[in-house]
Amino acid sequence: MTNTPPREPQILEFANSPAIPDFLIKDVRAKLAYIDEAVDKASIVEDGARIRLVLKSVPDESLQKAIEDKVARVVTAMVKGAFEPRLRSLEDHMDRLHAYDRDPMDELLAEREVVREGNGYYTLGPKLSRLIDYMESRFLWLAGEMQAEPYRFPALIPAEYMERVKYFSNFPHSLSFVSHLREDLEVIEDFAQHACCSHGVVDAPDHSMAAPGAMLTPTVCHHLYYALADQTIPMDGMTVTAYGHCFRYESSNMISLERLWNFTMREIIFVGPESFVKQGLEKVRKKAAPIFADLGLAYRIENASDPFFIGTFTNQTAYQNALELKFEIRALLPFKNDTVAVGSYNRHQTFFGTHLNIHMENEELPHTGCVGFGYERLAFAFVAQHGTDPKGWPEPVRAYMDDHAVC
Ligand code: AMP
Ligand code: ZN
Repeated sequence: MTNTPPREPQILEFANSPAIPDFLIKDVRAKLAYIDEAVDKASIVEDGARIRLVLKSVPDESLQKAIEDKVARVVTAMVKGAFEPRLRSLEDHMDRLHAYDRDPMDELLAEREVVREGNGYYTLGPKLSRLIDYMESRFLWLAGEMQAEPYRFPALIPAEYMERVKYFSNFPHSLSFVSHLREDLEVIEDFAQHACCSHGVVDAPDHSMAAPGAMLTPTVCHHLYYALADQTIPMDGMTVTAYGHCFRYESSNMISLERLWNFTMREIIFVGPESFVKQGLEKVRKKAAPIFADLGLAYRIENASDPFFIGTFTNQTAYQNALELKFEIRALLPFKNDTVAVGSYNRHQTFFGTHLNIHMENEELPHTGCVGFGYERLAFAFVAQHGTDPKGWPEPVRAYMDDHAVC
């Protein structure tokens, strides 16, 4: 890797030798967002041969050198030993017609149907909320068909649990920590008198905050596995459903409704023998197809891997791919001629059973699996394909919108 002098004061470019292979470009780019707080935007250009970083300010020589070292570390760790994943498609409906091909975000912001509160979190107005209510009504029906038991989970999850299921080592970059002021009269009074919000962040006196014992939960199903820790479950398995807020810090990768810090999901979760989990996921996939057809959604379902951080990336993605543990529902975004995952089917084998000491009545470890439908992404892909005006939406959705309009 060689560092060429900055083209413009805030741009650093690096040549990669050899070039980053095509199948890794998105993953490497996503990780570059986390290498240094000075990085504003990272891109990989010229077919993987060059990395371009836009920095927040002009770097001095030592910062340039530090960034160069970090880029080299990320690229080496992710490219060395990587192999091209084998992609298998379970469904392909990419040829469904779409009437719209612009980025819907500008229109949604202009009509205040989407209001940005902060980086990666938005308020949604009545139109998108009703659209999501429609989707939720269909997925709730699906959960009922699967005889799933309803659960409600908190938005907080214990730090201790997250460590136990290896979240600290697999996804440290996306963690969101929850703290509060230390229980100390002086600390609280000092904060009340002197703290302020400066450049969008809390500027508090030193040592005011307690060490975080809780995190904002990154996903829904973990709460069920936690609830089952040290328990014995029936041999015929458990099917559960829950809706929840999820939090994943995605740094400068957060754009529009496509990639959020705070999003919502409906999950259907299976715990039991391997065949029970596999068959449950397959049944859900078949029953979900008519729902996506009613949404008129162009998508395909293909295998994928989770966004592990660089330390565990290569091994974990290879493992997931080889065993086909994850399949994503990837919806078309016509305006960028690309796709985005709006849902996923996941199998974790006996990972949670092992780490949480869950057993079945015959003493064996249960398998777990889940399907998650991400609502903001689904709504975003839907309007990216059908436009922001409900008059142009598929009939079943329009009918729901009409039936649920305020008179
Ligand atoms: P995953 O557990 O990573 O397979 O995510 C399940 C679903 O959650 C994805 O298919 C998306 O619909 C949604 N999702 C995941 N990450 C984000 C994000 N950063 N912003 C919005 N939706 C997301
Ligand atoms: Zn899950």
